[in-house]
Amino acid sequence: MNEELRDRVDERTPSDAGGDADVVIVGGGPAGLSAALSLGRARRRVVVIDSAEPRNRTAAHMHGVLGHDGLSPLVLLERGRAEAAGYGVRFLREAVRSASVEADGLIEVQTAAGMIRTRRLLVATGLEDALPDIPGFQEQWGRGVVVCPYCDGWEHRDDVVGIVATSPQSVHQAQLLRQWSHRVVYFENVVGEASEVELERLERRGIRVVTGPVSALRIEDGDLTGVEVGGNAVDVGVVFTGPTMRPRDELLRALGAATTESELGSWVDVDADGRTSVPGVWAVGNVVNVRANVSVSLGLGSLMAGALNADLVADDIARLAPATLVE
Ligand SMILES: Cc1cc2nc3c(=O)[nH]c(=O)nc-3n(C[C@H](O)[C@H](O)[C@H](O)COP(=O)(O)OP(=O)(O)OC[C@H]3O[C@@H](n4cnc5c(N)ncnc54)[C@H](O)[C@@H]3O)c2cc1C
Repeated sequence: MNEELRDRVDERTPSDAGGDADVVIVGGGPAGLSAALSLGRARRRVVVIDSAEPRNRTAAHMHGVLGHDGLSPLVLLERGRAEAAGYGVRFLREAVRSASVEADGLIEVQTAAGMIRTRRLLVATGLEDALPDIPGFQEQWGRGVVVCPYCDGWEHRDDVVGIVATSPQSVHQAQLLRQWSHRVVYFENVVGEASEVELERLERRGIRVVTGPVSALRIEDGDLTGVEVGGNAVDVGVVFTGPTMRPRDELLRALGAATTESELGSWVDVDADGRTSVPGVWAVGNVVNVRANVSVSLGLGSLMAGALNADLVADDIARLAPATLVE
């Protein structure tokens, strides 16, 4: 560790276990910060390295998080950083490009400011939502275009809710949204053609079906007002869609972490405590769990921090030379 980095990553609790940190956490979203808070409180030397692009950064409000319903997601993270910093957690704002497990078991994390050697690595880098390549989607993401009924359904109750299909599974999203509004329009958008049975079920629930490719969203004064199909616009108050979710797991894959194929693609394997197949490397949140909303990410971060600390305690004991053990 060079001088500049030492100033930013001091050793608050003395440790003879080696390395510059007990845990480096890559990713400072809800999952990473929740783990950082618990590990800081456990008097571990923790460094959070974060490129500060959380998945829900375009949303002004966050919903369904008990005690914080309606809070800005960025304010939640700001508070989390301040709380963790209060327990000695250190922060670096940058993107980690590489990490390697060394022969002595320590993990070297390369940062722009230099290299950090850590006993454990926790990857909490989240996922990326790949949106349909249709004009207006990117611009409206997190406002007029959303993904999660439990996060945004209530705000659009009884509104005209459009579902722009991204696959045949989108028909289930339309049926789900019917829970929040009786005015649901399903845009098949070619890729989400409903079967005869599905069409009958959509009709039974009063869900309108629009066929043909969606060419653009209609946006007026910065707000979404409609969906354009075949030269016509259908009025909507909001669009729900199903982006392709791609885990930001390049670090884990480069380290050789085992993966499993599912219908949602290829995901890195973790056990119930968050361990990957690479010794000393753990992962939590959306990077390994597509269903981890903010509450789940917070909970798993805390759970994993406990398991990680127990693992470090076992390592602390194992490192004691037999002569130093007291009967
Ligand atoms: C539009 C939208 C609205 C949402 N609204 C809600 C809601 O209302 N309620 C709810 O519960 N959930 C909501 N979600 C889901 C929520 O965003 C996720 O559940 C949550 O962000 C997952 O937390 P995480 O910590 O796993 O990942 P993230 O929050 O994505 O955090 C990952 C962090 O890691 C950083 N990172 C990535 N790669 C690197 C790297 N190589 N080096 C350093 N840092 C890196 C990123 O910059 C980011 O800061 C919403 C999602 C979207 C897309």
